[in-house]
Amino acid sequence: MQLTAEDEEFRGRIRGWLEDHLSGEFAGLRGQGGPGREHEHFEQRLAWNRQLAAAGWTCIGWPAQYGGQEATLARQVIFHEEYARSGAPARVGHMGEELLGPTLIAFGTPAQKDRFLGPIAAVRELWCQGYSEPGAGSDLASLSTSATLDGDHWVITGQKVWTSLATVADWCFLLARTEPGSRRSRGLSYLLVPMDQPGITVRPIRQLTGTAEFNEVFFDGARTQRDLVVGDEGGGWRVAMATLAIERGVSTLGQQVGYERELDALIDVARRNGAARDPVVRDKLARAWIGLQVMREQVLCMLARADDNGTDNNRAGHTGEQAAGPVSSADASVVKLLWSRWHRDLGELAMEVLGPASMLAQAPPYDLDDWQRLHLFSRADTIYGGSQEIQLGIIADRALGLPRQARS
Ligand SMILES: Cc1cc2nc3c(=O)[nH]c(=O)nc-3n(C[C@H](O)[C@H](O)[C@H](O)COP(=O)(O)OP(=O)(O)OC[C@H]3O[C@@H](n4cnc5c(N)ncnc54)[C@H](O)[C@@H]3O)c2cc1C
Repeated sequence: MQLTAEDEEFRGRIRGWLEDHLSGEFAGLRGQGGPGREHEHFEQRLAWNRQLAAAGWTCIGWPAQYGGQEATLARQVIFHEEYARSGAPARVGHMGEELLGPTLIAFGTPAQKDRFLGPIAAVRELWCQGYSEPGAGSDLASLSTSATLDGDHWVITGQKVWTSLATVADWCFLLARTEPGSRRSRGLSYLLVPMDQPGITVRPIRQLTGTAEFNEVFFDGARTQRDLVVGDEGGGWRVAMATLAIERGVSTLGQQVGYERELDALIDVARRNGAARDPVVRDKLARAWIGLQVMREQVLCMLARADDNGTDNNRAGHTGEQAAGPVSSADASVVKLLWSRWHRDLGELAMEVLGPASMLAQAPPYDLDDWQRLHLFSRADTIYGGSQEIQLGIIADRALGLPRQARS
């Protein structure tokens, strides 16, 4: 990627801002939060995110009218690199900033954009994603949560599961069946639903890491306004698939830059504890470093193609139905496979570098260190946003043009 003098000046600005502001009350937040650790200093991280937003450092790729800086791809990469390099805490508004915001920009009505994009950019409203259900994960089109009209409102009944961050979210973007009797991907709508209402119950699910970031969410006559449908009524599948393509592809850029930090830290541990002298560990560290370079190039190629394509229609999906989005679904699936496997392998390598000590919790009953948490949580990377088997299926369909898999 070619950087101009103005890009380097931009790098200097964000680097300087982070150095100046990760101080005082925020100094202790370095390295806090992230997958498996979202509970860490949540309120302080929220305050930090709002300060970031007030200075214009959220949603930087968005159009200026919605609170962005219209930053080029190169500058978005620079932003993420500098953010990760500074050790600033994990951001709390990524569901809104990375997933719903771009979806609304592409599919929302002017009124929806005016109502929701500003609060996302300012980190005043947090979002969660209500797709998965107990009977609908990989096969999302089999979902059964329903929404029926009652005057100017949708009334929603059903259950979502694995809903990350639902306990702190103000709003949920969800997929519900709005045409009774419709099948599969037809008759679904993409609804925006306020979380703070009597018809919604959130029940946290405890994870392998001991923390509880995802949740069961029960909708028992929950309500939302009729005009809070994104895209057409009954046409929600196309919108939901576009969000998924973003989730698998573009939105992981910042996360991947953070991986470089994790690998550097692991190499440091290996140097200090002598594991770096073990030839097998050395090989694996070298392979991890190569994997990181491959991943970075792949992401940059994908984003450059998406930039070139602009508004081209592409296809995306859990199991094969059609949708529109800025990144092709095969590209997004390749990237998802690369980063999720790489990160899961890093977790395993971390345990190898740490040796037998990695088997013991730091303190009773279940106090894990950062490496143990990384190892356990990264098991989920090959599942959320669509499992690795599903990504392989999409690549087989879309990139290789193989015959479609028979549905059982
Ligand atoms: C940490 C975490 C956070 C999550 N956050 C959210 C969230 O915020 N919102 C949300 O809606 N969901 C969320 N999810 C749910 C996630 O999207 C689903 O877990 C995922 O889509 C898989 O669905 P499932 O768990 O029902 O597994 P299943 O679909 O039951 O799959 C079970 C196994 O069968 C395999 N399989 C299924 N179908 C096929 C096929 N056709 N071909 C080959 N193999 C197949 C899968 O790969 C998997 O190994 C989260 C999950 C995790 C782990």
